Amino acid sequence: MSRDSFHESVNHYFNRAASFSTLDEGLINQVRCCNSAYRMRFPVKRDDGTITVIEAYRAEHSHHRLPTKGGIRFSPDVTMDETIALAALMTYKCAVVGVPFGGAKGGVRIDSNTISDGFRERVTRRYTAELIRKNFIGPDIDVPAPDYGTGEREMGWIADTYKNLKLNSGDAYACVTGKPLAMHGIPGRKQATGLGVFYGIRSCMEIAEDMQALGLTTGIAGKRVIVQGLGNVGYHAALFMQRDGGAIITGIAEREGGIFNPNGLDVDEVFKFRNANKSILGFPGAESIANGQELLERECDILIPSALENQITAENAPRIKAKIVAEAANGPVDFEGEAILHQRGILMIPDLFLNAGGVTVSYFEWLKNRAGVSFDRMISRHEELVKREMVTAMEEMTGVKLSEEASRRLIHGPSEEELVIAALEQSMMRAYANIHRAWKERNLPDLRTAAFLLALERVAESYKHHGIFP
Ligand code: NAD
Repeated sequence: MSRDSFHESVNHYFNRAASFSTLDEGLINQVRCCNSAYRMRFPVKRDDGTITVIEAYRAEHSHHRLPTKGGIRFSPDVTMDETIALAALMTYKCAVVGVPFGGAKGGVRIDSNTISDGFRERVTRRYTAELIRKNFIGPDIDVPAPDYGTGEREMGWIADTYKNLKLNSGDAYACVTGKPLAMHGIPGRKQATGLGVFYGIRSCMEIAEDMQALGLTTGIAGKRVIVQGLGNVGYHAALFMQRDGGAIITGIAEREGGIFNPNGLDVDEVFKFRNANKSILGFPGAESIANGQELLERECDILIPSALENQITAENAPRIKAKIVAEAANGPVDFEGEAILHQRGILMIPDLFLNAGGVTVSYFEWLKNRAGVSFDRMISRHEELVKREMVTAMEEMTGVKLSEEASRRLIHGPSEEELVIAALEQSMMRAYANIHRAWKERNLPDLRTAAFLLALERVAESYKHHGIFP
């Protein structure tokens, strides 16, 4: 299956959900289609002074809410069609978790693994300038974020370029999220997608009836997990599954191959080992596997694909042994693979819900940049004073004096990171409850159809009230 068929998969899932709705066909078409897309080519100097032409894209899938929002992908394989499909997923994702944005996505056809820092910066700044020229970026227009091949550093360059070219924009930093903290980023954004994956899986595994149907006990603790991709999303998902959930990470696959240890791998140690050796192969105590794809087919309870789309297709779906496939990446299971997994009774937690933690915390970062004040600044001290009064009253009533440590823990006001993480957790739990309820109460075939249907209905509802001119 070609990468462009990823768009086919997204449309297939959307159409299946739409078949359960009673909405007007025209409205459904409007929610499905991409509103605008911009393909650009621009010259950038290589390190040796010669010029190369870069091809890049930005797609704004839905303007029912503004700004539109979505990451920027650096990959030699990215296409316009893939960018549009990813932008569509962003629209549905925002609707599912209640983030009031339309969906967008960006793509730049370069190989993030082989370019120098200088070239990377020149491309990022020039791409930003192109977006400004065509009005495809701005705090009220379209707000990029990190995706495959990009991170805090690129977002910092984008913010800086925008700020310098848009001299009178007071809230220029709100033009992009996922920025470094020193550039008005927000604590918690870096780990947000992976942490959201953990919260999403946890919510799913709390429901005894669903777990029984899979032959599993409830809860993450002790479950065997295989993760594909040890980048931003995969590393943090694996880390939280292990550290906070008590899961046993038995396998990790990367582009160079995979490692497997039935007794568990220490995620942080693997991460450090890969950074030092530029490969996970040879990690002490683990079996090294030359073809990482093979790992997807090993025995485990939960498989977390966290790299790219179309990793599970009709070709390998019959051999997948996991009981749960938790889609941390966008589109890791194509629609033919999905049908086989479904028929084999494997539960899929769909991407448009599971990896929405990133855009949720991006929303908080955007709000903070618009307000020009961090979330804890206005409430932390006030909460401390109220709690201190309560503790003093309690001590007076009971005659028991709390230890310094206990009183410090009870009294201290929340940090910005604590506020962000708590809001992320609540958002993921609430979204799962809504999707699960729709799945069961409306007799839908699966969680994905439920999530797509909720998204379709929410976006359509908003189009009914605004966005269509007479
Ligand atoms: P990343 O660039 O940080 O990491 C991706 C990792 O996958 C890299 O380590 C890469 O080497 C590895 N990889 C590439 N091909 C592989 C293969 N064939 N087998 C195993 N590993 C392979 O990217 P990311 O931000 O972690 O994004 C990963 C996925 O999550 C993408 O689908 C992206 O769209 C999605 N996503 C990311 C975010 C975010 O906040 N970064 C949010 C939502 C969804």
